[in-house]
Amino acid sequence: MARKGAGARPRRVPQRICVACRKTAGKRELIRLVRTSEGVKVDPTGKAPGRGAYLHPDRRCWARALERNMLARALRTQIRPENLAELQAYAASLPEESRPEDEPQGQGAG
Ligand SMILES: [Zn+2]
Repeated sequence: MARKGAGARPRRVPQRICVACRKTAGKRELIRLVRTSEGVKVDPTGKAPGRGAYLHPDRRCWARALERNMLARALRTQIRPENLAELQAYAASLPEESRPEDEPQGQGAG
């Protein structure tokens, strides 16, 4: 007679992948972006219909996803200039991960 179940059930948190850094995180820790007929937009509710992609609320993830076209690829679309401006403005409002030891990379001394 094997008795299973220790009482406490683990809560299932939906996991999503940030398209920039490919790390998984809880759905609520990430910001959803959605492809709409008007282009790619931030989806604050996380419930908008359409193909979605997720990014950390971290400026660096956004910069990477936008610069390298990762977001567009994840959503199988092309980001329009006006949407890109919106997304960049949104990214600018995000906190930048504080790095006390920010090493400047000296390049091309000359
Ligand atoms: Zn990320």
